[in-house]
Amino acid sequence: DLPHLTSDDPQAKALKYVEQAPDSEKHCGNCALLQGNEGDEWRPCALFPGKAVNVNGWCSAWAKKP
Ligand code: SF4
Repeated sequence: DLPHLTSDDPQAKALKYVEQAPDSEKHCGNCALLQGNEGDEWRPCALFPGKAVNVNGWCSAWAKKP
């Protein structure tokens, strides 16, 4: 399993990543950049190589999954 991204990671800070999205309609779980397997709580993200983000998280690069 990948180590979890934390909000004090420099790249996470730059993109204002948080583990709990402030807006439930915009979260990692429905972001176009999320990778990995549907149903997992922690999944890889294209912007954070080598780390897993929480599906309930969010960052400023959020883009709606088509
Ligand atoms: Fe979550 Fe940001 Fe990655 Fe989208 S780009 S999955 S919002 S961390």
